[in-house]
Amino acid sequence: MIQDIAPHRFDRTYSLTPAAPSDFALCLGEDDMVLRQDGDQYYLPRFSELKLDCADARHLFALDGTGCYLTEPPTELPEGFVRVSGRELRQVRPMETAFAAATAAQLKRWYRDRSFCGRCGHPMEPGTTERAMVCPRCGLTEYPKLCPAVIVAVTDGDRLLLTRYAGRPYRGDALIAGFVEIGETVEDTVHREVMEEVGLRVKNLRYYKSQPWAFTDTLLMGYYCELDGDGTITLDRSELREGFWQRRDEITPRDSDVSLTAEMVERFRLGKEKER
Ligand SMILES: [Zn+2]
Repeated sequence: MIQDIAPHRFDRTYSLTPAAPSDFALCLGEDDMVLRQDGDQYYLPRFSELKLDCADARHLFALDGTGCYLTEPPTELPEGFVRVSGRELRQVRPMETAFAAATAAQLKRWYRDRSFCGRCGHPMEPGTTERAMVCPRCGLTEYPKLCPAVIVAVTDGDRLLLTRYAGRPYRGDALIAGFVEIGETVEDTVHREVMEEVGLRVKNLRYYKSQPWAFTDTLLMGYYCELDGDGTITLDRSELREGFWQRRDEITPRDSDVSLTAEMVERFRLGKEKER
């Protein structure tokens, strides 16, 4: 998955150390980012390579011990550097570049959206000891936005419930998914989302794995569960355009290794959904 970048090391330790020319410059525009291209591989550029000023850059995290700083993109790019759109980022390889880029974009959105205090309207300031935005007037402290959500693989023996979203750019097979609401446990969310989206009851929930999905500020939690009772699908057409049972041996092998959904479908296809 996108966060599985070992042996590379992502270090989220908060730091106020200024950038140096050898640090990575995460040049994020409104919906794109500058990367160094080498064939079909992409790498984070350094301040020195783009001849960028380090002065106003904001430390985000470190990759393999090198600081990664948020800064404005240059107007002109030297040869070998390209702008990659937000949509294209998840296809970028190697994976550590995609993960760093997506996480940087998430943090940029959060810093932008927390420029002003939601309580009193005063300009916010970065925390001095931890990653937070703090209001110097009223003291409100805001932490990075993370929305918990579930991905649910509903199984019925050798059949898996697949869905296709209505009204979204992604057209491929998906699993039941939805955000945790106020006052719910994650297990409540699994039952509610399956009932809302396809009208089915489920049992024997088994937690599989989680995934930070920076593209939507989400922390995904993946569950396998079994159909409880009748398997007739009643589709919520505002969310889904299709929902159907697919036999294990009819599932197409996944060519993407980025998402938790893809990994969960692939494990079911291989008959490994009950293994830990
Ligand atoms: Zn305030």
